[in-house]
Amino acid sequence: EEFYGFKRWGANHFSVDSEGFVQVQPLADGRTVRLMDVVDEATSMGLKAPLVIRMQDTLRHRVTQLNEVFRKAIKDEGYKGDYRGVFPIKVNQLREVVDEVVSAGKDFNYGLEAGSKPELMIALAMHEGGQRLIICNGYKDKDYMRLALLGRKLGKKVIIVIEQLSEVDSIIEISKETGVKPMIGFRVKLQTRGEGKWAMSTGDNAKFGLNTAEILFAVEKLRAAKMQQCLRLVHFHIGSQVPNIITIKAAVTEAARFYCQLAKMGFPMGYLDVGGGLGIDYDGSRTNFESSMNYTVGEYARDVVFNIREICEASGVKVPDIVTESGRAVAAPHSMLVVEVFERINKHESLGKQHQPKSRHKIVDDLAVLLKNKARLGRLERFHDALQKKEEAFSLFNLGYLDLENRAAAEQIFWQICEQIDKESDKAGYQPEELHDLKKLLADQYVCNFSVFQSLLDSWALKQLFPITPLHRLKEKPTVNAVLVDITCDSDGKVDRFIDLQDVKDYMTLHPLKPGQPYYLGIYLTGAYQDIMGDLHNLFGRVNEVHVFLEDDEPNGYYIEEALAGSRVSEVIEGVQYQWEELCRKIKQQIDHATKKDLIKPREGVRLVEFYEAQMQAKTYLNIEQNGKRKR
Ligand code: PLP
Repeated sequence: EEFYGFKRWGANHFSVDSEGFVQVQPLADGRTVRLMDVVDEATSMGLKAPLVIRMQDTLRHRVTQLNEVFRKAIKDEGYKGDYRGVFPIKVNQLREVVDEVVSAGKDFNYGLEAGSKPELMIALAMHEGGQRLIICNGYKDKDYMRLALLGRKLGKKVIIVIEQLSEVDSIIEISKETGVKPMIGFRVKLQTRGEGKWAMSTGDNAKFGLNTAEILFAVEKLRAAKMQQCLRLVHFHIGSQVPNIITIKAAVTEAARFYCQLAKMGFPMGYLDVGGGLGIDYDGSRTNFESSMNYTVGEYARDVVFNIREICEASGVKVPDIVTESGRAVAAPHSMLVVEVFERINKHESLGKQHQPKSRHKIVDDLAVLLKNKARLGRLERFHDALQKKEEAFSLFNLGYLDLENRAAAEQIFWQICEQIDKESDKAGYQPEELHDLKKLLADQYVCNFSVFQSLLDSWALKQLFPITPLHRLKEKPTVNAVLVDITCDSDGKVDRFIDLQDVKDYMTLHPLKPGQPYYLGIYLTGAYQDIMGDLHNLFGRVNEVHVFLEDDEPNGYYIEEALAGSRVSEVIEGVQYQWEELCRKIKQQIDHATKKDLIKPREGVRLVEFYEAQMQAKTYLNIEQNGKRKR
């Protein structure tokens, strides 16, 4: 349990049971579900890994927690306004996710945020009215605005956030056209800079928002159109995953100043929207490193509430209702990806007797001497000598002076020397840089049945870290250093950066694979952004998915409420303009032709046509068959 740091990054949701299985506590209330049970049940339903497991209760828990934390901060600070959070649909558009969030947010007037027309169309339909807000962000055409005003006609509190000056003209025009008074917000371009991977959302070069001069122009335009009463909100978004609370305090302070200035200019206002940015502690270090956060949700809420109140009081302005657009913090913890490791690629496996060189080349002998006489030279010197000999061996091979057996022996002894040096380094304190990287060089590659491009895009694109652990065998000491590689035909399809309390690790330690026994890894906190950002590289497509709920009447019971099958071959190829029936027809023609030419026997021809057709309906990921009895 300690080894993989569940307690640090898991926010009380994950632990290891007495038999060494990972269990999840969706509500952090003591009730647990063993994840391998879910995997086994899904497998028996035909939904093998790669598998997304969604804990719907965790999603509900996070919505409740965020709202309660703000309620408490408002009470403790004696704040006179309300909290009106919204969930940004972009973070996870899946209907079951949005449904759960809307339902969990009922008692808190928790609303929705849209960043595009399709998202707004979802928001309008799914939103349940009352005091709940719909915030419209992103670039907008006139139809986007018409949709927002349709929401106003339905009595919904839809706020159009102006990102560009030109949007002010459009909204004035459409308001006249429809006769509906919009609720308008300004997105301000703060000078306070974000921090971490998503820091480009503020500052002079930010893509969105109005700078100070533009705000004054926008104000003029609204006044001229007699639409002063429509300006209700100030918004900013400082970028996602803000690791440092100091950045948040500064941004809130700057935005609150904008708010107060506009309120003093006579606009009705009423809402201050602090955007997203609330982090997730992916590595559990509680630091201001980019994959962590140096604050809690409670501290975040208190700081937002406190700083807004301070500025408003100092300016003599009535405090606004507070809007946040936290997406990552709400959605990330509820889902995880399960992948199966089915193969190990190892560089230094020993040569069997049958492959030993019949006559050993001198270069192999030289390397063997380096391996044997370990005490004579220092580690670094031995490493340099071994490197030189290895390069020499490759040159000899290229010039035709080294046969396959001798090349294999040279490579193998080189890796043995590296292993030996690495073991010695473990005992020594200081390590020169070149030796530091040996562990990664020596690490095995564990081949996992999934696509990084489909299921873990931010790991590939932004080198984002996610916690990863085996789902079972946690009573056994892990002994194999490994990096993870996926099944796409792309060397980038790998995970080779892992969480670590001190730094980032470029390998992780796992269990040796056992023949005939599946080995499953969980990749956690993947509920935000990963589902929708994934792409169809190599046409792998969506993975299987199960939605799990706790069973109320049983202490540790759960049920799979919904199972979504991953992509089938026919589906993904239709996405790139083929018709699967036509492909089947073409193959049948070719097989018929080959049969006529006697290249294939008619009986076999029929079987091959059937096989091709059946594969069209098969899943896209590898169908890993386990030999013998499955044990875990
Ligand atoms: N609001 C806006 C305008 C955004 O662009 C984003 C995403 O970057 C969010 C909210 C959600 O941010 P987060 O997931 O960090 O809460």
